[in-house]
Amino acid sequence: MFGIPVCVQPWFWLTAAILSWSAVDIGFEYLLISVACILVSILAHELGHALTARWFGLRPMIVLHAFGGLALDVGGLRERWKRLCVTLAGPAAGLGLWLLLSFIFTPGLAPIQQWNYALWVLLFVNLYWNLLNLLPIYPLDGGQISAELFTWADPYHGLRRTLQVSLVFAGFMAIHGLILSKGASPAYRSWFGWIPGSTFSAILFGLLVLQNYQMLQQLPARRGYDNDRLPWGR
Ligand SMILES: [Zn+2]
Repeated sequence: MFGIPVCVQPWFWLTAAILSWSAVDIGFEYLLISVACILVSILAHELGHALTARWFGLRPMIVLHAFGGLALDVGGLRERWKRLCVTLAGPAAGLGLWLLLSFIFTPGLAPIQQWNYALWVLLFVNLYWNLLNLLPIYPLDGGQISAELFTWADPYHGLRRTLQVSLVFAGFMAIHGLILSKGASPAYRSWFGWIPGSTFSAILFGLLVLQNYQMLQQLPARRGYDNDRLPWGR
């Protein structure tokens, strides 16, 4: 696609189908529409990263696995501003598509029910996937950005700060997903109901909490690591 190799792994289809499963209630074709819209949305995001990386002379490849994914060594870019550009380009592409779609189409007005549904999924996934991705949770895009900024401000403790902030946000999102899936109180909903959360997101952010905790445990042995590049690669 645009000269960039794209590989879609079975895990991607499985995860997209699980996320779209409730669509079966209104018809099997809606499940397929939802999976197709998730594919388009994640591709737009990853293409944002990949095209920017190619612009800077890298040779990126898109591999869609369970939660999106780009096979790319951004660490191959020596300049921090270039790495920041590549990281920001993903959410920028997704939010750009969201803006474009919401300007062109008015949900609910298309003559065909299926088109309305497709538009609704595209708008929802493009907005929330990219906003969630911008949370300072490592290794999401927002976490990569905070890692760049923290290690820039303090090369010796930057990674520790990044992971500490990441743990707090991932922990909140995990507990939030759990609370919403168990049925939150009206008071909780009025404060935090606008943040999407589900059993699925609780598991996803719970895994990130574990990953971040393990990374923090590994850090002391690497104290003094003052290179720009993160020790565990990307
Ligand atoms: Zn991304």
